[in-house]
Amino acid sequence: MIIATNWKAYVESVEKAKKISTLAKRLASRSSHEIIIAPPATFLGLLAEKNHSKVSFMAQDISSMTGGAHTGEITASMARNSGASYVLVGHSERRTMGENNELVTKKLQHILAQGLTPVLCVGESERDEDGSYLTFLREEITDVFEPLTRKERLQVVIAYEPIWAIGKKASESITVADLTEMVLYIRKILTEFLSGRATNNVRVLYGGSVEPNNIRTLAEGSGIDGFLIGHASVELESFSALVKELEV
Ligand code: PEP
Repeated sequence: MIIATNWKAYVESVEKAKKISTLAKRLASRSSHEIIIAPPATFLGLLAEKNHSKVSFMAQDISSMTGGAHTGEITASMARNSGASYVLVGHSERRTMGENNELVTKKLQHILAQGLTPVLCVGESERDEDGSYLTFLREEITDVFEPLTRKERLQVVIAYEPIWAIGKKASESITVADLTEMVLYIRKILTEFLSGRATNNVRVLYGGSVEPNNIRTLAEGSGIDGFLIGHASVELESFSALVKELEV
């Protein structure tokens, strides 16, 4: 499984960043899972430089522009040169700042052009009885997948992150039954872009209040390929517990 962690802006000091990164490397050396960490951009190069561990690094976001006179922008090429192999794109916290599917697609194409793996975040803000959240999700995936080639589509990792489940407690996270249904639905959407068997090669992660006490239940039988974890990944004890829970 993939255990991808998103440090957001929770980690603001170099000391804390180094501590979590060292722990991630130690956990990865003994784990059968792929551990990916996404430090803030200012720490990425520092932590990923000369990385010979099994940990992979991820940028939390990149610019929709390529290199040039763009003060403050962090391009996909910079992320690659700083040691990232994955990039988060379309996270709901970016979308609330105005990112739409068009911008997300542009970023995703820059990520792919640099040979990096995009982790595309999708997910509805709320659930309604008439099912329009399903249409919303379909559009988020369709708008991005449509312009891509078959090879590119297979490189995208999808992180299903229902916004209503982000940043809460495990008890408020999704149920296994609902997650199982959503993973099937996402793979069904993908059949519009890939042959049935190939859709199984697109990795689908779940994110939204994953904590040590629900990670195993969510992993078992839901059909996901891993997790994207926020708040529980930035405390040493809970990060360690998350990885250990999946080793059993
Ligand atoms: C996220 O925002 O990507 C996330 C999964 O956050 P949390 O685990 O804190 O819900």
